[in-house]
Amino acid sequence: MNMNHHSKERTLVVIKPDGVQRSLIGEIIKRYEQSGLKMIAIKMLLPTEEMIESHYSVDPDFKKKVGTKAIESYKEAGDKPPSDDPETVGEGVMNRLKNYMTCSPVVAMVWQGAHAVELVRKATGTTEPRTSDVGTIRGDYVLDSYSMADSDGRAIRNLIHASGNVEEAEKEIPLWFDKKEIIQYKLVQETILYDVNLDGLLE
Ligand code: AMP
Repeated sequence: MNMNHHSKERTLVVIKPDGVQRSLIGEIIKRYEQSGLKMIAIKMLLPTEEMIESHYSVDPDFKKKVGTKAIESYKEAGDKPPSDDPETVGEGVMNRLKNYMTCSPVVAMVWQGAHAVELVRKATGTTEPRTSDVGTIRGDYVLDSYSMADSDGRAIRNLIHASGNVEEAEKEIPLWFDKKEIIQYKLVQETILYDVNLDGLLE
């Protein structure tokens, strides 16, 4: 199969400190694994603040986007945002994220397979666990909200980071993994998932 085939799409998943502390590593891996995706890299590490800054700066508009959303959520809750400038509020969220993401080890992984980015995000649920659907990892295992995180001045604890799109995934993966830590191999189940002719199964 060529390297541009759908089955080669990759995404970065990081089980955040709260996922590790809640003993959800196995459950989270199970959800992605049973969808048919293939894990091609995994490690536990303690990120540095510099790593977190680089990771969230992969999207040059991260601070603006996250700041805009945060301002909306302050207003929805009837609270005054710390500033009306999205970049300034976004800078605050970045600092809170650094604090959160470096408080304990995380588990970083690369998952590969057709629609990997989209399927991982579907299984993970939306950013705010309070409004994530039941059946998603965040909807089933955690309860945090924008309003609680903002009023307590901290990042939302939502167990997992999952790349937002294919382009971001391809920029994020090298920040977390050396090439040699990513293993190219076949899973036997890939025949039934992707093989066109299915002619090698009967004896
Ligand atoms: P990601 O890791 O890709 O989900 O990056 C965004 C992260 O920033 C979220 O998961 C939250 O942990 C955090 N975050 C985003 N918006 C807010 C907010 N308004 N207040 C607190 N934390 C936030």
